[in-house]
Amino acid sequence: MTEHTHAGPAGPDDAALEAATNHTDRPTDGIVTCDACPVLCRIRTGLTGACDRYGNFGGRLTRMDPLTVLARSPGAVRFVDGAQGGQWDGNPLAARDVVVTGIGAGTTYPDYKPAPFIVSAEIDGIDMVTVVTEGIFSYCGLKVKIDTDRHLGPETATVRVNGEPVGHVTTAEYGSQMLSLGGVRHLTGGGKREGVVTCETLLALANRAAVELAIDGGASVVVQAGAPPIVDGVAESRMRVGCGSAAIGIFARQWRDHADEVIVVDDHITGVLTEHQAGRFLGMRPAGIRVRGRRSTPGRYFQVAAPGQGWGGTDIADPLAIIERIDPRAAWPGLRLLMVSTTGEHGAWFELDAALRPRPAPMPAEIAAAVARVAENCEPALCSVLFMAGAGGSLRAGATDNPVLLTRSVQRRLTRVTAGGAPVYLWPGGGITIMVDVTAMPANAFGHVPTPALVAPIEFSLPRADYAALGGHLDRIQPLAEALRQQRSRAIVKP
Ligand code: SF4
Repeated sequence: MTEHTHAGPAGPDDAALEAATNHTDRPTDGIVTCDACPVLCRIRTGLTGACDRYGNFGGRLTRMDPLTVLARSPGAVRFVDGAQGGQWDGNPLAARDVVVTGIGAGTTYPDYKPAPFIVSAEIDGIDMVTVVTEGIFSYCGLKVKIDTDRHLGPETATVRVNGEPVGHVTTAEYGSQMLSLGGVRHLTGGGKREGVVTCETLLALANRAAVELAIDGGASVVVQAGAPPIVDGVAESRMRVGCGSAAIGIFARQWRDHADEVIVVDDHITGVLTEHQAGRFLGMRPAGIRVRGRRSTPGRYFQVAAPGQGWGGTDIADPLAIIERIDPRAAWPGLRLLMVSTTGEHGAWFELDAALRPRPAPMPAEIAAAVARVAENCEPALCSVLFMAGAGGSLRAGATDNPVLLTRSVQRRLTRVTAGGAPVYLWPGGGITIMVDVTAMPANAFGHVPTPALVAPIEFSLPRADYAALGGHLDRIQPLAEALRQQRSRAIVKP
């Protein structure tokens, strides 16, 4: 995203401050009390409160960050005076198709007051209202997807930062290890330090910083949204092509004419080509090589080795270690055997000698190309960080006097929910439980308060008529341009 900063006035004027804060900020000896969260900081002139989000600006409580607005694309930015050329100076008032976000909007804790900004704008001929706030989330966490086959730790193992528990390993997904971090139990249910470290960890990861996580009984992994994971000091490069069985299905035809047997080593499902359904369909001769572990279906084996950071997410460094026996009634001297991992990172070529023992042999060019093809089909390994939170609590009062109507409107898709302008995934069922990719949001969209809890932007957009129907704060609606005129802002142009 390209960012334009619009300085606006040197400091917010009175009207802007009222719009920006809505807080009881009566100065006493130059000290103002911030009531944007339960901490109730008393802030001296020129200083900020404990979270750095609010400061004492000339004796008035001020949200320190500018309000962030989005222009959907450079092509959509059209100057008010009709000009099509020249450089846009970043002033949101000079552009149309502006979307106001909750970033920098401020909060209204404990939420009995209307949201900081309730703005109206015509979108595609419809009079739309957007309710904008920064929610304080005690019920929130991160779902982290780490594209790697390497074993990071047993399922349910505790994830720690600086020794404090901040989450756990959850069920692996296809080609990825998954972590669940944060949540109300770590934020509030442990010791004070656990809550503080958890909050710091969530904040850093949500703002796309790198954090080193240590997993009990497993690895150390550096996680950063949109970047490759670093597992025990080694940067991961490839996300596997599939499980061992899937790799057989994908490449069987390409391997058939160049090898007599192919074993794809995988911690979850190791594939054996000639025994696998794919090999049978291709008419391949059974090779009689039996691998260790539990046979699930023909050519598909579970638990051939322990999990680890070797071949295919197992703990083995020597692939022959997973061969249990070679059947002399089926195998033959000179049998050509390829063993390969699910990423193509590991590959070895063997030929059976007269005693049917696998002997390493120079890998033929066709086989080297086949291994390279596996690697070619791997996607880059990345970390994905999704923020997950429940927005079905008191912040709804900032939108309406009858919160359940907002919930129902969201669930019926009459009200669109975004976070920092990014679309969210709305969980089915009760409440307003959302997930959003932090890389789809503007950088540094998150803040925190020391309670501890995370602060995240959230916006509710709906037609004015629907907003009126759910008992919205109609008297607090202001035109978007009016809100922008009163507020320091920064504009971000999405590519
Ligand atoms: S921690 Fe931040 S939001 Fe909370 S009272 Fe202090 S300055 Fe205000």
